[in-house]
Amino acid sequence: VSRGSLIYLDNNATTRPFDEVIESMRRCMEDHYANPSAETSAFTGADRPSIEAASAMATLLGAEDGECFTFTSGATESNNWVFHAAGMRGAGRILISAIEHASVSGPAEAFAQRGFQVLPIPVSSFGVIDLEALESLLTEETILVSILAAHNETGAVQPVAEASQIVKARSAALFHTDATQALGKLPINLTEAWPEVDLLSFSAHKFHGPKGIGGLYIRPGVQLPPFILGGGQQLGLRSGTMNSPALAGLAAAARLSDNEGLVRTEKLRDRFERELLEAFQEAVIHAKQSLRIPNTSLISFPDLDGEELVAELAAAGIITSTGSACSAGAVGPSASLLAMGVDYTLAEGTIRISLSRLSQEFEIEALLKHLTAKRMRPSAHQS
Ligand code: PMP
Repeated sequence: VSRGSLIYLDNNATTRPFDEVIESMRRCMEDHYANPSAETSAFTGADRPSIEAASAMATLLGAEDGECFTFTSGATESNNWVFHAAGMRGAGRILISAIEHASVSGPAEAFAQRGFQVLPIPVSSFGVIDLEALESLLTEETILVSILAAHNETGAVQPVAEASQIVKARSAALFHTDATQALGKLPINLTEAWPEVDLLSFSAHKFHGPKGIGGLYIRPGVQLPPFILGGGQQLGLRSGTMNSPALAGLAAAARLSDNEGLVRTEKLRDRFERELLEAFQEAVIHAKQSLRIPNTSLISFPDLDGEELVAELAAAGIITSTGSACSAGAVGPSASLLAMGVDYTLAEGTIRISLSRLSQEFEIEALLKHLTAKRMRPSAHQS
């Protein structure tokens, strides 16, 4: 299927790079191929991509300055770095929300095996963490609290400002948020709205940038041990020749991430949900009662198999997701839905529709048409 004919409704998995992103990467490879950390980089212009990426990120996130950003291969690496840093503090308690992405829950499990006390912060049936539970789980021994900013499956926005205030008032723990799904979809201001957030992970391919580049915001004054040792690039925090083309792409994507395109996306999402519920009264849209990022709908259909439906839609050129299967080979319904108390069988009938600012009305119409046609012609799976 060519790029033009694909109806891509899986934008929480990744997004199509903006044309400007592709163009700036191409230009970087042609013109700025010199080593970005060589002493001659200011003369060759090879220092520009990282400077521009840092400055665009500082603007997008309302950070103090570009120096707060260290670039990594993406959010998975950034999240692993945060746990690596916490591990240096020796023993202690680590709190993570019950709905973290595998790139947080995976390292957390590894730390639990190494003797750290890792506890989940429970979530409501609406997919939002319980702040009172967070407060009661905090102790003086707590070294790290990690709560994602917006959930990749439901889209539920988490109370990061309140949670970080509670953590800072009651402990000396580091506060980390995995903001991978929030960037470009939610206004973020690290100095005014989130002053108690120490660390924030992000990934460019979730906001129309290239894959394999992302970073970690580190609040000035927060000391992190380096994650990758070597040639001392990026102030010695993350060695290795910087990925200049990807940084040029990241800079372009960050500069183009305004909130206006999202008003359209949200209208499209709301239209889709309205028409879907008219046709399928029994469908459940998760976290609909909560504040959500404007592009996401996570829907469960009783008596339907999510994996089958996703495969059927893909065969028709409409790309969606079950939401839970982004890790290779993952089977079974979403752990996050189960943490929200959703019935196992209902959770099995789940598909995620995630739009982007590039999504079009006709794409939603094609999806609705396919779903309603299916209703006329129930699959063998239905009882
Ligand atoms: N965190 C969240 C919430 C995500 O949705 C994803 C991507 N599925 C990641 C982390 C991993 O990001 P990356 O692909 O940059 O490693």
